[in-house]
Amino acid sequence: MFQGKRVMVCTAHPDDEIFCSGTIAKMVNNGNEVLLVVGTEGEKGSHDPTATPEGIAALRRTELETAAARLGVSSVIRLHYHDGELQYAADLKEVLFRIVRTHRPDVVLTFDPWKRYELHSDHRTIGFAMIEAAHLGANCWYYHEQMKDPGVACHKSRELYLFNCDEPNYYVDISDVWEQKLHAASAHCSQFGDKKLTENDVRRLTNRLNPNDQITIEPMHKMWQSDLYL
Ligand SMILES: [Zn+2]
Repeated sequence: MFQGKRVMVCTAHPDDEIFCSGTIAKMVNNGNEVLLVVGTEGEKGSHDPTATPEGIAALRRTELETAAARLGVSSVIRLHYHDGELQYAADLKEVLFRIVRTHRPDVVLTFDPWKRYELHSDHRTIGFAMIEAAHLGANCWYYHEQMKDPGVACHKSRELYLFNCDEPNYYVDISDVWEQKLHAASAHCSQFGDKKLTENDVRRLTNRLNPNDQITIEPMHKMWQSDLYL
Protein backbone atom coordinates (compact mmCIF):
# COMPACT_ATOMS: atom_id res chain seq x y z
CA MET A 1 0.00 0.00 0.00
CA PHE A 2 1.05 3.58 -0.67
CA GLN A 3 2.37 5.87 2.07
CA GLY A 4 2.42 9.60 2.67
CA LYS A 5 -0.69 10.28 0.59
CA ARG A 6 -3.76 12.34 1.36
CA VAL A 7 -7.03 10.45 1.21
CA MET A 8 -10.55 11.92 1.25
CA VAL A 9 -13.48 9.75 2.29
CA CYS A 10 -16.85 11.32 1.48
CA THR A 11 -20.03 10.02 3.11
CA ALA A 12 -23.61 11.17 3.68
CA HIS A 13 -24.24 10.37 7.36
CA PRO A 14 -22.22 10.27 10.56
CA ASP A 15 -21.93 6.45 10.59
CA ASP A 16 -21.44 5.76 6.86
CA GLU A 17 -17.69 5.41 7.23
CA ILE A 18 -18.41 1.92 8.59
CA PHE A 19 -18.75 0.78 4.98
CA CYS A 20 -15.04 1.37 4.42
CA SER A 21 -13.57 1.88 7.89
CA GLY A 22 -11.26 -1.12 7.62
CA THR A 23 -9.72 0.48 4.55
CA ILE A 24 -9.48 3.80 6.40
CA ALA A 25 -7.68 2.14 9.31
CA LYS A 26 -5.26 0.38 6.97
CA MET A 27 -4.42 3.59 5.15
CA VAL A 28 -3.88 5.53 8.39
CA ASN A 29 -1.80 2.74 9.91
CA ASN A 30 0.36 2.78 6.79
CA GLY A 31 1.23 6.46 7.17
CA ASN A 32 -1.41 8.20 5.07
CA GLU A 33 -3.53 11.19 6.04
CA VAL A 34 -7.27 10.55 5.89
CA LEU A 35 -9.87 13.34 5.82
CA LEU A 36 -13.51 12.45 6.33
CA VAL A 37 -16.22 14.58 4.68
CA VAL A 38 -19.75 14.01 6.02
CA GLY A 39 -22.64 15.58 4.11
CA THR A 40 -25.44 15.70 6.69
CA GLU A 41 -25.96 16.04 10.41
CA GLY A 42 -27.79 12.71 10.62
CA GLU A 43 -30.55 14.33 12.66
CA LYS A 44 -33.24 11.91 11.45
CA GLY A 45 -31.32 8.88 12.67
CA SER A 46 -33.72 7.88 15.45
CA HIS A 47 -37.12 6.21 15.88
CA ASP A 48 -37.61 7.81 19.29
CA PRO A 49 -40.60 10.22 19.02
CA THR A 50 -39.44 12.10 22.13
CA ALA A 51 -36.03 12.91 20.66
CA THR A 52 -35.23 16.24 19.00
CA PRO A 53 -33.32 16.73 15.76
CA GLU A 54 -30.80 18.89 17.63
CA GLY A 55 -30.29 16.22 20.27
CA ILE A 56 -29.90 13.42 17.72
CA ALA A 57 -27.42 15.50 15.70
CA ALA A 58 -25.38 16.32 18.81
CA LEU A 59 -25.24 12.67 19.87
CA ARG A 60 -24.24 11.54 16.40
CA ARG A 61 -21.57 14.23 16.18
CA THR A 62 -20.00 12.86 19.36
CA GLU A 63 -20.25 9.29 18.06
CA LEU A 64 -18.63 10.33 14.79
CA GLU A 65 -15.76 12.11 16.52
CA THR A 66 -15.13 9.05 18.67
CA ALA A 67 -15.19 6.69 15.69
CA ALA A 68 -12.95 8.97 13.65
CA ALA A 69 -10.41 9.16 16.49
CA ARG A 70 -10.38 5.37 16.81
CA LEU A 71 -9.62 5.11 13.09
CA GLY A 72 -6.92 7.79 13.21
CA VAL A 73 -8.78 10.16 10.87
CA SER A 74 -6.93 13.47 10.89
CA SER A 75 -9.95 15.71 10.46
CA VAL A 76 -13.70 15.55 9.93
CA ILE A 77 -15.30 18.10 7.60
CA ARG A 78 -19.04 18.34 8.22
CA LEU A 79 -21.15 19.99 5.52
CA HIS A 80 -24.20 20.51 7.79
CA TYR A 81 -26.88 19.57 5.24
CA HIS A 82 -30.15 18.17 6.57
CA ASP A 83 -30.46 14.41 6.83
CA GLY A 84 -32.46 12.98 3.91
CA GLU A 85 -32.39 16.24 1.98
CA LEU A 86 -29.15 16.15 0.00
CA GLN A 87 -29.84 17.45 -3.50
CA TYR A 88 -27.74 16.74 -6.56
CA ALA A 89 -27.54 20.43 -7.30
CA ALA A 90 -25.07 23.21 -7.87
CA ASP A 91 -24.63 24.23 -4.24
CA LEU A 92 -23.55 20.76 -3.07
CA LYS A 93 -21.29 20.32 -6.08
CA GLU A 94 -19.74 23.76 -5.55
CA VAL A 95 -18.98 22.86 -1.93
CA LEU A 96 -17.35 19.55 -2.90
CA PHE A 97 -15.35 21.06 -5.77
CA ARG A 98 -14.00 23.63 -3.32
CA ILE A 99 -13.07 20.96 -0.75
CA VAL A 100 -11.26 18.89 -3.39
CA ARG A 101 -9.46 21.93 -4.73
CA THR A 102 -8.46 23.06 -1.23
CA HIS A 103 -7.31 19.74 0.24
CA ARG A 104 -6.22 18.15 -3.08
CA PRO A 105 -6.50 14.47 -2.13
CA ASP A 106 -4.47 11.83 -3.97
CA VAL A 107 -7.19 9.25 -3.36
CA VAL A 108 -10.97 9.65 -2.97
CA LEU A 109 -13.46 7.12 -1.60
CA THR A 110 -17.22 7.66 -1.78
CA PHE A 111 -20.56 5.87 -2.23
CA ASP A 112 -21.34 4.00 -5.43
CA PRO A 113 -24.28 6.09 -6.71
CA TRP A 114 -25.18 3.47 -9.32
CA LYS A 115 -25.78 0.73 -6.79
CA ARG A 116 -29.07 -1.02 -7.59
CA TYR A 117 -31.68 -1.08 -4.84
CA GLU A 118 -29.88 1.59 -2.82
CA LEU A 119 -32.65 2.89 -0.59
CA HIS A 120 -31.15 6.13 0.67
CA SER A 121 -31.13 9.08 -1.71
CA ASP A 122 -28.40 10.79 0.34
CA HIS A 123 -26.04 7.91 -0.46
CA ARG A 124 -26.69 8.22 -4.20
CA THR A 125 -26.51 12.01 -4.14
CA ILE A 126 -23.22 12.38 -2.29
CA GLY A 127 -21.69 9.72 -4.54
CA PHE A 128 -22.70 11.46 -7.76
CA ALA A 129 -21.55 14.87 -6.53
CA MET A 130 -18.22 13.68 -5.12
CA ILE A 131 -17.34 11.71 -8.24
CA GLU A 132 -17.81 14.86 -10.29
CA ALA A 133 -15.70 16.93 -7.91
CA ALA A 134 -12.90 14.33 -7.85
CA HIS A 135 -12.91 14.04 -11.65
CA LEU A 136 -13.77 17.51 -12.91
CA GLY A 137 -12.05 19.57 -10.20
CA ALA A 138 -9.11 19.81 -12.60
CA ASN A 139 -11.15 21.86 -15.07
CA CYS A 140 -10.92 25.50 -14.05
CA TRP A 141 -14.11 26.40 -15.93
CA TYR A 142 -16.22 24.47 -13.46
CA TYR A 143 -17.03 26.88 -10.62
CA HIS A 144 -14.49 29.22 -12.13
CA GLU A 145 -15.05 31.88 -9.47
CA GLN A 146 -13.32 29.61 -6.92
CA MET A 147 -10.03 30.13 -8.74
CA LYS A 148 -9.75 33.64 -7.32
CA ASP A 149 -9.69 32.40 -3.74
CA PRO A 150 -6.41 31.80 -1.88
CA GLY A 151 -5.53 28.16 -1.33
CA VAL A 152 -7.76 26.91 -4.15
CA ALA A 153 -6.22 25.21 -7.18
CA CYS A 154 -7.45 22.89 -9.92
CA HIS A 155 -7.06 19.28 -8.90
CA LYS A 156 -7.99 15.76 -9.95
CA SER A 157 -7.49 12.88 -7.55
CA ARG A 158 -5.25 10.12 -8.87
CA GLU A 159 -7.50 7.33 -7.65
CA LEU A 160 -11.21 6.98 -6.99
CA TYR A 161 -12.86 4.06 -5.21
CA LEU A 162 -16.57 3.48 -4.63
CA PHE A 163 -17.71 1.63 -1.51
CA ASN A 164 -21.07 -0.03 -0.83
CA CYS A 165 -20.75 -0.85 -4.50
CA ASP A 166 -22.82 -2.74 -7.03
CA GLU A 167 -20.08 -4.32 -9.09
CA PRO A 168 -16.88 -4.73 -7.08
CA ASN A 169 -13.66 -5.00 -9.01
CA TYR A 170 -11.28 -4.42 -6.12
CA TYR A 171 -11.11 -6.08 -2.72
CA VAL A 172 -9.36 -4.78 0.38
CA ASP A 173 -8.37 -7.44 2.89
CA ILE A 174 -9.10 -5.89 6.28
CA SER A 175 -8.52 -8.95 8.44
CA ASP A 176 -5.57 -7.26 10.18
CA VAL A 177 -7.70 -4.28 11.25
CA TRP A 178 -11.00 -6.08 11.88
CA GLU A 179 -10.87 -5.49 15.64
CA GLN A 180 -10.06 -1.82 15.09
CA LYS A 181 -13.03 -1.57 12.72
CA LEU A 182 -15.33 -3.16 15.31
CA HIS A 183 -14.06 -0.82 18.01
CA ALA A 184 -14.63 2.26 15.84
CA ALA A 185 -18.07 1.11 14.69
CA SER A 186 -19.15 0.52 18.28
CA ALA A 187 -18.99 4.29 18.81
CA HIS A 188 -22.21 4.59 16.78
CA CYS A 189 -24.31 2.86 19.42
CA SER A 190 -27.37 5.09 18.82
CA GLN A 191 -27.76 3.59 15.36
CA PHE A 192 -28.33 0.00 16.40
CA GLY A 193 -31.70 -1.19 17.61
CA ASP A 194 -30.87 -2.29 21.12
CA LYS A 195 -27.99 0.17 21.36
CA LYS A 196 -25.54 -2.69 21.07
CA LEU A 197 -23.51 -3.31 17.97
CA THR A 198 -22.91 -6.94 17.05
CA GLU A 199 -20.11 -8.31 14.95
CA ASN A 200 -22.74 -9.49 12.46
CA ASP A 201 -24.05 -5.92 12.11
CA VAL A 202 -20.59 -4.77 11.11
CA ARG A 203 -20.06 -7.76 8.82
CA ARG A 204 -23.35 -6.99 7.06
CA LEU A 205 -22.32 -3.36 6.51
CA THR A 206 -18.86 -4.36 5.38
CA ASN A 207 -19.88 -6.79 2.69
CA ARG A 208 -23.55 -6.61 1.82
CA LEU A 209 -23.07 -8.74 -1.26
CA ASN A 210 -21.89 -11.69 0.81
CA PRO A 211 -22.88 -10.94 4.42
CA ASN A 212 -22.30 -14.50 5.55
CA ASP A 213 -18.81 -14.57 4.14
CA GLN A 214 -16.40 -14.97 7.02
CA ILE A 215 -13.58 -13.51 4.97
CA THR A 216 -13.09 -9.93 6.10
CA ILE A 217 -12.89 -7.89 2.95
CA GLU A 218 -14.27 -4.53 1.88
CA PRO A 219 -15.39 -4.69 -1.75
CA MET A 220 -14.82 -1.57 -3.86
CA HIS A 221 -15.36 -0.46 -7.41
CA LYS A 222 -12.17 1.15 -8.61
CA MET A 223 -13.02 3.85 -11.14
CA TRP A 224 -9.73 4.53 -12.82
CA GLN A 225 -6.22 3.21 -12.82
CA SER A 226 -3.08 4.90 -11.62
CA ASP A 227 0.18 3.89 -10.06
CA LEU A 228 -1.27 4.13 -6.53
CA TYR A 229 -2.94 1.09 -5.04
CA LEU A 230 -4.80 0.51 -1.84
ZN1 LIG B 1 -26.04 6.59 5.46
